[in-house]
Amino acid sequence: MPTRLKVELEARFDSAYSISSGTGLAGIMDSYVLRDARNIPFVPGTTIKGRMRYNTTIMARALDIEVCNNDVNGNEPCKNCIVCAYFGAAGNTYPGALYFDNLYPVLDNMSESYIASLMMPRRGVTIERQRGVAGNKLLFNQEVFSPSEAIAFAGSFEGSLRLNTVSIDQQINLLRLSIEHIRTLGGNQTRGLGWVNITPRFFVNEKEYEINDISEGGSA
Ligand SMILES: [Zn+2]
Repeated sequence: MPTRLKVELEARFDSAYSISSGTGLAGIMDSYVLRDARNIPFVPGTTIKGRMRYNTTIMARALDIEVCNNDVNGNEPCKNCIVCAYFGAAGNTYPGALYFDNLYPVLDNMSESYIASLMMPRRGVTIERQRGVAGNKLLFNQEVFSPSEAIAFAGSFEGSLRLNTVSIDQQINLLRLSIEHIRTLGGNQTRGLGWVNITPRFFVNEKEYEINDISEGGSA
């Protein structure tokens, strides 16, 4: 019988963030906060997945857990290591076993107009480097969302724990660490944006999983 994993995530931002839709109106607002059709901002599950994939690769190598080099462009995925098994290969040529939902703000009784009031433009200065012109400063307007710690974002990911070369304890610990090491989302952290804490709760076959910590030597 396959072992089912579900992980509930709660993200709290310490600052405004600028997870952007990737489109803007030049000269008016150069980037907008990503939001859905109801105008509610969200954190894409694919963003969490990408960051976990990177962190898992780094930490597996540090802990001497076998992981292939499919993070290097052009390399074939081995399909057997923890990164291939759960996050798949870059460019979706090989799917991982985990499926990620978006993280949405927990709104309780907050109105849409209150949420809209937390989105605001922030003016910044960037240094143009692309044209090889050193120190050419450009002004830009960037929309940010300021949820503060009062608004949590919630979401989840799930799939089957299909790797049998690494113990379940160790797999879950790696996944947990790869989540807890996500400290910023959306970039611009040097301007004070996007600082976040993400807390996971693990459920194995629908039962909450007690974590036996391998990194910090026992439960604290
Ligand atoms: Zn691999």
